[in-house]
Amino acid sequence: MSPRMLLDVSFFVFLHSLDIDLAERVRRGGCAVCGGPLHAAPYPRKLRGLPAGAGRLFSKRMSFCCGSRECRARATPPSVVFFGRRLHPGAMVLLVSALAHGSSDRRLRRLQRMFDIDIDRRTLVRWQGFWRDAFPGTDGFRAQAGRFSPPLSRCGLVRDLLRRFAGSLRDRLVSALLFLSPLTTGSVALERARRCAGETRRGGVVIAC
Ligand SMILES: [Zn+2]
Repeated sequence: MSPRMLLDVSFFVFLHSLDIDLAERVRRGGCAVCGGPLHAAPYPRKLRGLPAGAGRLFSKRMSFCCGSRECRARATPPSVVFFGRRLHPGAMVLLVSALAHGSSDRRLRRLQRMFDIDIDRRTLVRWQGFWRDAFPGTDGFRAQAGRFSPPLSRCGLVRDLLRRFAGSLRDRLVSALLFLSPLTTGSVALERARRCAGETRRGGVVIAC
């Protein structure tokens, strides 16, 4: 498993195009509260660990605000780049968690050298704790993971998730990020976010899934 794509600007440009597609699908659906129009209302974000040249694409997270004065509800679309409030992109959180399975110091140092990533041991342990302990208990995960049979393994969940999709590692990573994208927003209902992610997956993006 060689995550060279984490160093590749074009990979993040592609992920950005998926985020634009996801956002457009949310915008077209209108406000879920009152049916009003959604207007762009991005907010600033700063991601760490992106390859040089990719940072400018992700200095803001796409988000919308209802245009109805009485409503103003926010709708932040699902994302294949932003992973909740984490400082690193979702692709890195997934791949490094999978590669550092077991989290030996030697393996972590190798990853740090290989990809010049600024991830310390505490961050890695936190990510692994999230996949192992917190993530399987979330409503979103339970709703999403039901599609897998046999169920995803709790031990080495990220590695198992990546194995469940077809294609190259790059294809599988993109599929996993789309699969997880409905869980990256708290302001678009899970069912709607899942529908958008499914449409993006089918909408001309060649992903074996
Ligand atoms: Zn509204």
